[in-house]
Amino acid sequence: MAVPKRKKSKSKTRMRRAQLKAHTTTIKACPQCGASQQSHRVCPSCGYYRGRQVVTVLAD
Ligand SMILES: [Zn+2]
Repeated sequence: MAVPKRKKSKSKTRMRRAQLKAHTTTIKACPQCGASQQSHRVCPSCGYYRGRQVVTVLAD
């Protein structure tokens, strides 16, 4: 197995880690009800995902 010949310097490690950053979640308007929701998730207010009802949301 290939093994690194030299220890990576603090500088090189920090340069690499500088590229790692937390990403924010994408919020968009639901096409069904218009409420803001996270993309690629079931809408919390109407329970729709990809144009169909997938979960039943209890009205209060
Ligand atoms: Zn919705």
